[in-house]
Amino acid sequence: MTIMLEDVDEVVRALRTVLAEEQILTGRADRFNRARVPAPFPVHRWAERVPDVVVLPTSTEQVAAVVKIANGLRVPVVPRDGGTGLTDGAVPLRGGILIDVKRMNQVHELDLANRTVTVGTGINMLKLNEYLAPYGLFYPDDPASYPCSLVGGRIGTSGWSLIGARYGHTRDLVLSFDHVLPTGDIMHVGDGIGRKVSKSSSGYQLKHLFMGHQGTLGIATRATLKLFPKPEAELSPFWAFDNYDDAYACTGALARAGVATFAGAVLFDEHKVAYLRRDDEAYIPQPTDVRALVCAAMYGWDDEVRVGGKRLFRIAKEHGARYLGDEISEGDWAARHDRYATPLHGRTKDGQVVPMSWHCEDAAINYSALPSVTKAWHEIVADLRRRTDVFDDWGMFAYTSGSTGVDYLTEIDVGIWEQQLDDRAWAMWVDAKRRLARVALDHGGSISACHGSCREGEVDLVPEELGRGFDVMLDIKRTLDPNNIMNPGKYLLDRAYPQEG
Ligand SMILES: Cc1cc2nc3c(=O)[nH]c(=O)nc-3n(C[C@H](O)[C@H](O)[C@H](O)COP(=O)(O)OP(=O)(O)OC[C@H]3O[C@@H](n4cnc5c(N)ncnc54)[C@H](O)[C@@H]3O)c2cc1C
Repeated sequence: MTIMLEDVDEVVRALRTVLAEEQILTGRADRFNRARVPAPFPVHRWAERVPDVVVLPTSTEQVAAVVKIANGLRVPVVPRDGGTGLTDGAVPLRGGILIDVKRMNQVHELDLANRTVTVGTGINMLKLNEYLAPYGLFYPDDPASYPCSLVGGRIGTSGWSLIGARYGHTRDLVLSFDHVLPTGDIMHVGDGIGRKVSKSSSGYQLKHLFMGHQGTLGIATRATLKLFPKPEAELSPFWAFDNYDDAYACTGALARAGVATFAGAVLFDEHKVAYLRRDDEAYIPQPTDVRALVCAAMYGWDDEVRVGGKRLFRIAKEHGARYLGDEISEGDWAARHDRYATPLHGRTKDGQVVPMSWHCEDAAINYSALPSVTKAWHEIVADLRRRTDVFDDWGMFAYTSGSTGVDYLTEIDVGIWEQQLDDRAWAMWVDAKRRLARVALDHGGSISACHGSCREGEVDLVPEELGRGFDVMLDIKRTLDPNNIMNPGKYLLDRAYPQEG
């Protein structure tokens, strides 16, 4: 399916009929830049996964025209927004046309009466909230990648918001969107026909189908989003514990308490605290007897946050928490958006500091399964570390999803010494990812809560997780994308086209 070099001229000629010259990029740097992702896929094989052409459309119609051309010429198409996805969703596996939507970043309509905003999917949440602030409104999709991931990528991955227990996640906050199908047809996806209706029971609930598909079913181009009053108050106390078990029990109790302003709680395990203390210069130093941490976040009007906060403080105290004070609390919660960018080093078994980059695996797990998943995941990474210094265990955290605290995003962070990564170490990591995914499934969880699971290793278990549902996925893919042009090779969806295998 990869287009051959002599075909690129033909593709470019066709693209010139619908785009201006400066919207079509074929230069090496332009193409390599758009094959880059924050977590290292096998960096030693970077050059194998580069697009042949990059396009910069400015409207839904231009995206549709490009996809029509690609479908006609049987050329792969990969949508890319911020390129911050952590499972290589936006990395072209077979070359082709990469659609970079960053020029579609306009605010098209602010509807104060219905409290919605309609934007191009190339806008990010930080920019959007700067625009909304004077109106006393905000859009509460708040991933740790808030300043650099874009609305379209949030739709493509069905992202997780750190304050989702109060406001919901991307899937709840996006009311509807315009979507270009793999044939180049344009459709509107939402509840009912309206752009601003949030509940309808007419027909199939297609909105969810067109979210979290990692660009394999088309491209979202213009989205209508729910807005909320900009919170007057934000409270984010950090509590310290001398053991994981008390911190874990406290997290569950905070989430189940039914405090309306509760926006989320995050639990840092012992490995994470040890890692932060050891190697994260941005971390505010804490006493050595601190072994686990819990942060709760509350958002809302000042009077309700104050009252809700008192209750959460009481619960934390009952569970043995020590409040770390305003400076640490506010500082560390504020660092949630840039924490990952800071520590670019880890350690070998001898304690030698070496340059490392951040990699992570996430899962959706019920509260009751968290301790044993945490234990099993650390054992997998410890096993890697016993075999090579390429990997370092940077610890785990867990976030609540809903206000009931039933399910959690849990994530293990692993340092990878990229310069030492070779085929042998990569194979070890892929195998470890398969084992991490297996643990999630064995505990009744899902392989991923937000990043998706479309990369080597964990993707092998997706058919098992979905069972008969995976066959339905194949049927849908074949029907909507008869020529397998949309982000081919992802999610094992090539199985929908037996003639290609
Ligand atoms: C430091 C850091 C912290 C992170 N924290 C979080 C977090 O807290 N919560 C969370 O959910 N994620 C987090 N992530 C992961 C990442 O930010 C999210 O997956 C995000 O949703 C990706 O957005 P993006 O704009 O970068 O998308 P991209 O990486 O460009 O694309 C992601 C996927 O969506 C597809 N896609 C892109 N644009 C479109 C479109 N317009 N229509 C359809 N499909 C499309 C792509 O093909 C790809 O498969 C983090 C990443 C980093 C680097």
